[in-house]
Formats: sequence, C-alpha cells, structure tokens
Amino acid sequence: MKELSKLASAVRASTTIAIDTKFKTLQAEGKDVIGFGLGEPDFDTPEHIKEAGIQAIRDNKTKYTPASGTPAVKKAICQRLKEDWGLDYETTQVTVNAGAKHILYVALKTLVNPGDEVILPAPYWVSYYELIKMVGGVPVVVDTTEESGFKMSADQLRAAITPKTKALIFNNPSNPTGMMYSKEQQEAIAKVCVEADLYVIADEIYGKLTFDGKTFTSFASLGEDVKARTILVNGVSKTYAMTGWRIGFAAADQKIIKIMTNYLSHCISGTSPISQAAAVEAFAGSQAEIETMRATFEERRNYLYERMNKIPGVHAVRSEATFYMMMSMEDLVGKTLYGVEIKDADDFSDVFLDKGGVAVVPCTGFGAPYFTRWSFAVSMETIKEGLDRLEKFLAGAGVE
Ligand code: PMP
Ligand code: GLU
Repeated sequence: MKELSKLASAVRASTTIAIDTKFKTLQAEGKDVIGFGLGEPDFDTPEHIKEAGIQAIRDNKTKYTPASGTPAVKKAICQRLKEDWGLDYETTQVTVNAGAKHILYVALKTLVNPGDEVILPAPYWVSYYELIKMVGGVPVVVDTTEESGFKMSADQLRAAITPKTKALIFNNPSNPTGMMYSKEQQEAIAKVCVEADLYVIADEIYGKLTFDGKTFTSFASLGEDVKARTILVNGVSKTYAMTGWRIGFAAADQKIIKIMTNYLSHCISGTSPISQAAAVEAFAGSQAEIETMRATFEERRNYLYERMNKIPGVHAVRSEATFYMMMSMEDLVGKTLYGVEIKDADDFSDVFLDKGGVAVVPCTGFGAPYFTRWSFAVSMETIKEGLDRLEKFLAGAGVE
C-alpha cells in the first residue's frame, strides 16, 4: 500500500478530547471518577435559543444555506460586534460555519503558504499547534512564565519574528491559563504586528467570561490598521452554552472572508440552518443568561483558587477569565507517587485518574508540561469533591 499523507499522519489526537473519552469510558464501566477535563459549559442552552432552533425545524428551514451563513445570522453577528466591542463590520466581512475550531482551520488555510511561520504564545490551546501543522505552517512557540502572568511581551514577540513569519495566533482571554491581556498590553503587541506586517488571528471565544469586574478589549478595536490585519474569531459555544450546535464565525477584511468562504463552499457548505436560526436568537435576543453563567463561573473560580492553594505540593494560577484554572505540579516532578515516577503533567494526570479518581487535562500538549488544567464548567459539588480527592490523593501518595 502506498504511504498515507505525511501532513495528516503527523497530526496528534486532541488531548482535551482524549481525556474526555478516557473519562467517559471509565464512567461507563461504572468506575467512580469525576472530570474537570473538557472545556464546555455545564449549563443548558437558554430556552429562548432552543425555541428558535425548534421553530426553524417547524418552518422547514432544513435546506442548504449560503456557504458564508444566512443573511440573518451575519446581520446579527455584525450587530453584536458593534454593541459589544464597538466594531463596524459589513455582512460581507463575516463568514459563519461549523464551530470556531473549523473557522480557525480555514483562517490558517487562507493565510499560510507551506513553510510560513505562525507565532504561538505558550501555554496555548492544544489545537492551535496541530492546526498550524495541518496547513503546512511552522509553529513558532514563544514561552511565557507564571511570573509574567503567562503573557507574551512585545519584545518577546519582536524577537520571534523572522522573514518567514506570516501570522500570530492571539487567544485572549486564554485557554488554558485563564489570563487576559489588558488594552495597553494588547496595544504594545498590536504595534509590533503592524510594524512587522503580520496577520493576527484573534480568538476571542472567552471574551464575555471575565472576572473581578475586568472588561475585555477586542483586538480589532485597537485601530483601523490593526483591524485590517485581524481575523476575529468567535462563536456561540462558550458564551451561550451551545457547544453542540456548531456555530463559529470570522470577521475580517472582505478579501480574506471571500477566500475563506470559497474554501468552505467546497469542504463543508453552510453549517446547519437550524443552528444558524438559533444563533440569530443567541446574538440578537436577550443577553441576560450570560451574566448568570459568568457570575457562577466567577464564584467557582474563587472557591477553586482559595482551596487549591491551601493544598501542599501544588498551587493554582488565579485565572482572570474563561472557565479554566491551571494547577502547577512542578514541585512533584522527580518524586514518586503511588510507585510512579512523575516526570511531567502527563504522568501526574494518569496517576491522579487511576488512584485519585479525577480527570484533569495535562498541559503537556499545551506547551506547559508542569501544569494541569482544571475546567470549572462543572457544579460546585463536583469542585468540592475534586478538591477533597486531590487532598486525599496527595496525602496518601507516599511521596518520595
Ligand atoms: N478556541 C478556543 C480557545 C477554545 O477553547 C475552543 C474550544 N472548543 C474553540 C476555539 C473552539 O470552539 P468551537 O469549535 O466549539 O466553536
Ligand atoms: N476547547 C475546549 C477545551 O479546551 C473543548 C475541547 C476542544 O475543542 O478541544 O477543552
């Protein structure tokens, strides 16, 4: 048999999906496990949004739509971007499809020629690294430290640029760190991007889930020259608890959107008209539920952070947004837990699931090998139980 595609064969499975699969398998086998793995809101999709989807089926909105989305959903997105971040986009500058993940792939496909470098600040969401490789690009990772709040400085960005650099992936607020760049910090980054003529894929999917009264600034709002080189990516998954509806979008220069849409027209067509109708209601209808969900996430963040930091051997990194918290297990590296030598977060997470009954995401695949990610998109009871188990697990580990 002939060799399969080198590009495709080099792609590694998503660790977030892998952890969730392992967790659900153990659960199905009747094992007593709890999970902080997959990043998806535990809330139901708000009723008024579900009703819009049901009504779409009743109205026979069950046929193909334009590849870039229905006029109604693009109009609702433009209005939302204006209302939320003061951004002016025409509907011809928007393309909607099956989730932000797919939109990110097509955005990279639109920008990258084989061998082009794409800068990725670490820790990064696991899929970015693979997506860059999937389009023939070269990921250039910029490491950041806990001391700097896991934020890349303008100088670090400048130092990573070469004549081959095409773009920066800028995920703010960040999965997995939960950190958020301020307006000033973003301005410094944007200045370098303009000077070096870089495109910016600004993934702002967690922009509404911010804590401590902090407000989020959308990257494209920093100026017309910044907006012109930015592909803004967002969707309904996190903000409206709609992960399964598969709606994500890009807003950008018309030329970029046209290429993205041409690409989408061949590889997927429009996404489900039912989901698009529900998304119209999400973007244009009442926004009240977002605050209820956001406030609940903040309450959980507070509890998780306070308690985790009292547990000897580990410490938490206080997130400013999202529904993730990173836990450092660096102090356990080189020690033996339940007979297993801990080299990195992969080892820790394996033993923690096997002996502690808790699934967390090792950030090894996120460019942060001594951290695990805890998604607090789970009930407060689960958080309490998870921390009880962490305490017991570490206390009984026979750490050597
Ligand atoms: N970007 C980030 C940073 C994410 O965490 C996720 C989570 N799935 C996505 C994009 C993709 O979201 P979706 O495909 O569900 O719209
Ligand atoms: N983005 C979420 C996470 O990081 C969902 C899973 C995924 O798409 O990777 O857990």
